[in-house]
Amino acid sequence: MRLTDGLTKIKGIGEKTAQAYSRAGIDTVEELIHYYPRAYEECAAPVPIASLKEGGPVVVCGALAADARVRWTGKLKIVDAVIRDETGSLRVTWFNMMYLKDVLRAGRRYVLKGKLSVSRFGMVLEQPVIYAPENYVPLIGKLKPIYSLPAGLTAKGIEKAVKEAFAGLGMLKEFLPSSIRCTYSLAEYNYALRTIHFPSDRTELTFARHRLVFDEFFLFILAVRYLRDVNEVQENGCRIEPSPLVDRFEKSLPFALTGAQKRCYQEILADLAGPKLMNRLVQGDVGSGKTIVALLSLMQMAYNGYQGALMAPTEVLARQHYENFTRLFAQAGVDLRVELLTGSMTAKEKREAYRRIADHEADIVVGTHAIIQDKVHFARLGLVITDEQHRFGVRQREILAQKGQEKGGKIDQENSRQNSRENSQENSQEPPLSLPHVLVMSATPIPRTLAIILYGDLDISVIDEKPVGRLPIKNCVIGASRRKKAYEFIVGQVKEGRQAYVICPMVEDSSAVEGENVQDYARKLEEELPPSIVVGTLHGRMKPSEKNRVMEEFAAGQIQVLVSTTVVEVGVDVPNATVMVVENAERFGLAQLHQLRGRIGRGKHQSYCIFINGSDASKVKRLEILTRTNDGFEIASEDLKLRGPGDIFGLRQSGLMDFALGDIYTDADILKEASEAAKKVLENDDELSQEENRELKKRVDRYLTRKAEMLSL
Ligand code: ADP
Ligand code: MG
Repeated sequence: MRLTDGLTKIKGIGEKTAQAYSRAGIDTVEELIHYYPRAYEECAAPVPIASLKEGGPVVVCGALAADARVRWTGKLKIVDAVIRDETGSLRVTWFNMMYLKDVLRAGRRYVLKGKLSVSRFGMVLEQPVIYAPENYVPLIGKLKPIYSLPAGLTAKGIEKAVKEAFAGLGMLKEFLPSSIRCTYSLAEYNYALRTIHFPSDRTELTFARHRLVFDEFFLFILAVRYLRDVNEVQENGCRIEPSPLVDRFEKSLPFALTGAQKRCYQEILADLAGPKLMNRLVQGDVGSGKTIVALLSLMQMAYNGYQGALMAPTEVLARQHYENFTRLFAQAGVDLRVELLTGSMTAKEKREAYRRIADHEADIVVGTHAIIQDKVHFARLGLVITDEQHRFGVRQREILAQKGQEKGGKIDQENSRQNSRENSQENSQEPPLSLPHVLVMSATPIPRTLAIILYGDLDISVIDEKPVGRLPIKNCVIGASRRKKAYEFIVGQVKEGRQAYVICPMVEDSSAVEGENVQDYARKLEEELPPSIVVGTLHGRMKPSEKNRVMEEFAAGQIQVLVSTTVVEVGVDVPNATVMVVENAERFGLAQLHQLRGRIGRGKHQSYCIFINGSDASKVKRLEILTRTNDGFEIASEDLKLRGPGDIFGLRQSGLMDFALGDIYTDADILKEASEAAKKVLENDDELSQEENRELKKRVDRYLTRKAEMLSL
């Protein structure tokens, strides 16, 4: 078996299962063995019933007090039982598992593992897994991998497939040069891979994880350096002269730019008009007003005869930018043409959009990654902006940057007169340059030092000031038992005409992780709230067109309460929404919670964020940082301090970068090491052509192709 083989080569995986893996982005044996467990469950020893407290998974061992009974509530069939140990007894319920009535016997001993909740009648163990004590005891203290379960796959199935893959592959070649492994005390590759899936204890796991996190950062950094070399050309081939029309538009806006926005815009203008191609990162906390800076920059390009593209990570966000731009242009009488390009448009709509883009009937193209598809050809692309950059791979950015080159010759022949002055001074056998400027915008507060490691020589502008007149968001952390109060609060705000978000961590109920989920939650919430309040749902598994519809209805105020996953995390702007309730807040990273919270506090009304802590009280301390400050940079660094680099089981800042395991905050030390190592390797052998680096070169090449393939999906 080879790493590049398809999954059907693995014993037990047929076409159908392979398709389920494929939908989750796992197509090759290599991708499968790098599909790491999301977490590990330690099979804990049973605890005395008398010592139980509400919350998380608990394990008890005892005898059944009587035969199980069945009762009905509405359509639900519930099996009721009572388990008793030396210290007390506990009620147990299972839903829709009628057969248990005949399996469970009074007087027999069981180990039960489930979630403890508190009802009117006291504590109840809900839906526990049942073990015979003799089967459970050998598991105590062992770590069991927990995988995220893509639709159509089971935990057992993944575990088995990974084992089969390891067996079929045999020993893999180590790709890190031994000098690097020595310097940074890294585990051997085969050992690390097997251990991350099947660790025998936490020490081993930590060692294995360290190696694999190093790999992720190291390959990423090498790939970035590699790509940058390909695009070494840095002269400004799309030089502009600032247009007074843009100033006029700026003056017509309903607000004045903040000092920080002005500074950032000036820095961009200096780049666009200067001798070098722009390669700039704009960092600004959520709500700091990055969009308008992007728009002004796009307008400058347009008035200088260049097209510009703004790429957003979600369709909802792209659509919102598009509507925002067209509205502002209409209000100010600007006749620049904005084009929307997203995946859910019909083939015909897309074809027409492609044509307008190619014929330069579009000045500004706003879209999702549909913009970087092969069929899109720009007539004169001069500026590429990616919004919420951390959602894009480096490669995506590079591909878009290369789009500017496609019609290179043509662009410069008819290039604006201003530019020809500059070009004619140079020797004319050089083909004119036409790479577009690149601007990336991110709310992710990456510390400057890390940004430089990750992005190399990118220039950075910081918008560190919020528009005036914004009321700071009021925050609180509450336990799940006070959820009703949160609902009452929502009702109050809706009565005043405002809207609310409720964020749940997951879409559908999954047995591996308890936690509120969007669909069930919305149903429950509808029952709790007065019937006049319209509750909508939004999650990643919905069709893009449905998502758009829901977002539009929410923006238009037809939906008052939106129950959503983190899809809304990115950039959505509905200023009338003033409440956000985050369920199971302890599951999210602090930086992500801060992003989420950025969806409110965008208008003139006071906004409120309520974090519901669904598990034990130990997590509250972390969440309380969010109530102390609304400053994203401070939150990120506090998060780092609190969790510490050693806290490998802490929550990952999901979505931050494309790393499966690594976390640029908590693994900052490893990131630095990887960066140092990459530098050392390239200094000695910039082409990776030496014998020592042969396997590494292969690995980097595969890394690059894989990223490229992911894009064309
Ligand atoms: P983000 O930086 O999170 O992308 P946006 O660009 O979406 O923020 O801006 C958030 C909101 O603030 C928008 O409704 C925008 O119109 C408004 N806004 C932007 N700049 C200013 C300003 N200088 N004064 C007042 N409101 C502003
Ligand atoms: Mg934004």
